[in-house]
Amino acid sequence: MTLLVKGGRVINPAAQQDEICDILVEDGKIKAVGNHLDETGAEVFDASGLVVAPGFIDMHVHLRQPGQSAKETVATGTRAAAAGGITRVATMPNTNPVIDKSIIVEGMKYKAEHEGVVKVEIVGAISKGLKGQELAAMGAMAKAGVAAFSDDGRYVEDCDFMRKAMEYASMFHKVIIDHCEEQALVAGGNMHEGIVSNELGLKGRPAVAEDIAVARDILLAEATHTPVHIAHISTKNAVDMVRRAKAKGIRVTAEATPQHMILTDEALRGYDTRFKVNPPLRSDDHRQAVVDGLKDGTIDAIVTDHAPHEWEEKDEEFNVAPSGFVGLETSIGAVLTYLYHTGVVDLMTIIRAYTTGPAKILNLPAGVIAPGKDADLTLIDLDKEWVVDSDAFYSKGKSSPFDDMIFKGKPAATIVDGVVVMKNGEVLR
Ligand SMILES: [Zn+2]
Repeated sequence: MTLLVKGGRVINPAAQQDEICDILVEDGKIKAVGNHLDETGAEVFDASGLVVAPGFIDMHVHLRQPGQSAKETVATGTRAAAAGGITRVATMPNTNPVIDKSIIVEGMKYKAEHEGVVKVEIVGAISKGLKGQELAAMGAMAKAGVAAFSDDGRYVEDCDFMRKAMEYASMFHKVIIDHCEEQALVAGGNMHEGIVSNELGLKGRPAVAEDIAVARDILLAEATHTPVHIAHISTKNAVDMVRRAKAKGIRVTAEATPQHMILTDEALRGYDTRFKVNPPLRSDDHRQAVVDGLKDGTIDAIVTDHAPHEWEEKDEEFNVAPSGFVGLETSIGAVLTYLYHTGVVDLMTIIRAYTTGPAKILNLPAGVIAPGKDADLTLIDLDKEWVVDSDAFYSKGKSSPFDDMIFKGKPAATIVDGVVVMKNGEVLR
């Protein structure tokens, strides 16, 4: 089967390419990139007026399986990804049971292959049961094909344990992804600690909790010469420390979410649980610092931390409601509206953070448009205006901080292994 993606504006960061051209796909692989390609017998996808990018990767997603299928499943979560222009996700192990042994990794891989509409990478747990005490079966999980290790949702408190985990993971060429919030400092806190939390009388989660956690991880990366990846970075100091560590050649990478680059703790004034997330939405100076980090390459990847919950759970009193919300179907629209169309971040930088950035961190042969590579493509209508309607999400999770907002820029099609799995917002599988 051949497919010709014709006349799109191809933006391919790996080759510093930004030009109108065609992409010929055969049997799921990219066969040629250029003009006047032979289209005999090919199905033609008219991409004129659209950006054609390497398939977007979201390396921080909670598909909630195994065990929490009331919140999300591989089937619903990957359909949400396809709808959002994402061709590959990495799913986190804080499930029930925890993904901490190879048999569960294998089960998830099987499920992803049979039910996944987009590609799914599995992140294995660092510690058994996410308890931070005993190493999980990392070697066996690496052999079973996990993409990375993380105890996401919790900070790896014990320094010696973290050092061993980093050294062990690096033997398998896998990175440790750390959720950086020092536990004692954030205990009982439900939002960013600052002027707004004081005025609301809510206990906060201070920025210094993240700063301390990130500093420790960078120091361990330097001491062990092994890589560490900072999940959902959200503070000024953390961004600055990662920037300086990279300049020193320390193997640290970082990701940021649309919410931490767009929203602030001012949104919490209505005690609306849709804005409750860890790490919390912070004050504008922190938000600005994270955006600056994306601009100068300190931040390698844009991720959603897509964290679906059941509506009844989110529809609780502020201090009781769970943290986190969905993001797969709003990621591209939010970033284009608030970071690109405002002139803050250029398109090449944004696309890099969705493609080559995460591909490098996870050692994936993806994120590039080149002959021989998998034909995973994300097509975007940069100027399409639309209103976010969480009721219409493919995800089971309907809680979104972006609900009802007007966005400019929308994924127009998602192509996985040469197959169009989403077109004009409709998932075709
Ligand atoms: Zn996390």
